[in-house]
Amino acid sequence: ISEVALILGDQLNASHSWFKTVNAKRLFVLMEIKQETNYVTHHIQKVVGFFAAMRQFAQALSSAGHQVFYFTLDADHNQQNIASNLTALATVMPQLEGFSIQQPDEYRLDKYLQDFAAEQSIPVDWFDTEHFLCQRSVLDDWFGPKKQVVMESFYRRMRKSTGYLMNDGKPLGGKWNYDKANRNKLPKGQTPPAPLCFSHDVSKLVAMLELQNIKTIGTIDSKNYLWPINRKESRQLLDHFVRYLLPNFGRFQDAMHTDYWALYHARISFALNTKMLSPREVVERALTYWQKHQEDVDLAQIEGFIRQIIGWREFIRAIYWQQMPAYAELNFFNHSNALPDFFWTGATRMACLSHAIQQSLDFAYAHHIQRLMVTGNFALLLGVNPTVVDGWYLGIYIDAIEWVELPNTRGMSQFADGGILATKPYISSGSYINKMSNYCTSCAYQVDKKVGEHACPFNSLYWNFIDQHFDKLKTNPRMALMTKQWEQRSESDKNSLRAQAQFYIENINTL
Ligand code: FAD
Ligand code: SF4
Repeated sequence: ISEVALILGDQLNASHSWFKTVNAKRLFVLMEIKQETNYVTHHIQKVVGFFAAMRQFAQALSSAGHQVFYFTLDADHNQQNIASNLTALATVMPQLEGFSIQQPDEYRLDKYLQDFAAEQSIPVDWFDTEHFLCQRSVLDDWFGPKKQVVMESFYRRMRKSTGYLMNDGKPLGGKWNYDKANRNKLPKGQTPPAPLCFSHDVSKLVAMLELQNIKTIGTIDSKNYLWPINRKESRQLLDHFVRYLLPNFGRFQDAMHTDYWALYHARISFALNTKMLSPREVVERALTYWQKHQEDVDLAQIEGFIRQIIGWREFIRAIYWQQMPAYAELNFFNHSNALPDFFWTGATRMACLSHAIQQSLDFAYAHHIQRLMVTGNFALLLGVNPTVVDGWYLGIYIDAIEWVELPNTRGMSQFADGGILATKPYISSGSYINKMSNYCTSCAYQVDKKVGEHACPFNSLYWNFIDQHFDKLKTNPRMALMTKQWEQRSESDKNSLRAQAQFYIENINTL
C-alpha cells in the first residue's frame, strides 16, 4: 500500500473518479468515530443512518475489488478521531507515500484536516468531491468579491450555466420563477401518497451506540429503520418522488398537516447530503420524467423543484464558504434566550410546535416550512440565542451537516446575519400557520386572539418582536408595512401586546 485515501461519512459518492479503476496500492479508509458522534447531540436515526450507509458503501467498494479498511466505533484499535487513526495506520505501513483527502464540506473538518496535512512528512493530495454543481468560490467568481447576492440572481445564473429549463437563452415558459402558483394549503379530501419507507434491522448498530454511551436524541424503530442506506434505495426514493410526488410538489410545498408528515416532499436530503445521490442526477431524473409526462407535471411543479436543487442548495453552500468562519458567530438581534424545554420533548399545548417537534423526534425529519415557519419562527420571536438554535437543528435532522444547516438556521430562519442570505426575517403571527395548515383547529390556543386567556402565543410574540427590534426593522423596505402598522397602534394596544408577550416569555415552559 502506498496511498491511504480517506472517505468521510458524507462522501459516499460511488461515481467518484477514485473508484473508476481498482488500484491495489490504494487503501480506502472509513471510520466511525466519537469525534463525529459527539460534536453535537445527534438524533439516533442520524447516527445510525450515517454508520449504516458507510458500512454499506465500504462493503460495495470491497465487493468491487477495492481495498478498504473500516474502523467500527467499538473496535479496540479505534482512537476515535481522524488524525490519530490515520497516523496509526501510517506507522504500520512503511511503504506509505501519501494521503488522499476529498475536500470536506464543513469548515470544522476542513480546518482540522488542513492542520493534519500540515503536520505530515508525506504529501497529502486534495481532491474535489465531484458532487456539487459549482465551486465553493462561485459567488465571488460570478458576482465579484463579497458583493451581496440574492438567491434569485444566483439561480438565474445557474439556469443559464446548466441550460436546465432554458430555451434559446430564455427561461422556458417565459418566466424564471413560478412560486406564486405554489403556495397552497392541503385541501380537504386531498390525500398525499404514503411515504416510501425502508425497513432495515439496525438493532446491532443501536446496541453498539448504547454500549459506547453515545448520547442521542429522538426515537428509532430499530427493526424498521426507514431511511435509505445505499445507492439503490436512494434511487428508489428519487423514483418514488418523481412518479408520485413531483406532480404536486410545488403546489403543496408550503402546506402543513397533522395527518401527513412527508406530504409531497422528496425526503432525499439525507441521500443527497451523504452524496449517495448527486444533484445532477436528481435534476435530470426529474426533468426526464417531466418531459415524458407533461400532462401530469406542469412547469410550475418542475421549476419549483429544480429551483430547490440548483438554486437554494447550491446557493446555501456558496454563502457558507463565502462567509465562514465569521458567519457562525453572527447575532444581528443580540438574542440570548434559552430554547424552551419542549423543543426536546414536543410537550406543549401549542399544536403547531407540538406536531413539528414530535415529528422531528419520531422521524429526524420536518419539511422546510415546519423548520422555517413553526420552530424557527418561534425561536426567533422568542429571542433565542442563535448558537443554541443552531445546535438544535444540527442535531435533530437526518440531513443536518453544518454547511447546509448553518446558513439555513442562522441566516434564513434566525436572520442573525442581518440579511446576507434573506432579504427580511421570516416571522409571522399565528395567521400564516393557520393559512397553511390544519394545526390551529386542534390547538389549545385561539389563533384569532392576540391577548387574554388562550390567545395564540405567536400573535403577541410577533408584535413584541417588531417593537423590540423596531429600529433595525424600520430600515428594511420589506418590513415597512409591519413597522408602520405597529406605529399606528394605540399605546394601550401596544402595552397589552407587550404584557401578553412578556407573560408568555416568562412562562414559556408552561405553554
Ligand atoms: P424537499 O422539500 O423535497 O426539497 C428537495 C430538495 O431541495 C431537498 O432535499 C434539498 O436538497 C433541497 N433544498 C430545498 N430547500 C433547501 C434549502 N433551503 N437549503 C438546502 N437545500 C434545500 N436542509 C438540509 O439538507 N440540511 C439541514 O441541516 C437543513 N437545515 C435547515 C434548517 C432550517 C431552519 C431550515 C428552514 C431549512 C433547513 N434545510 C436543511 C433546508 C430544507 O428544509 C431541507 O433541505 C428539506 O426540508 C429536506 O427535505 P426534503 O428532501 O423532503 O426536501
Ligand atoms: Fe400554533 Fe397558534 Fe395555531 Fe396554536 S393557534 S396551532 S399556537 S399558530
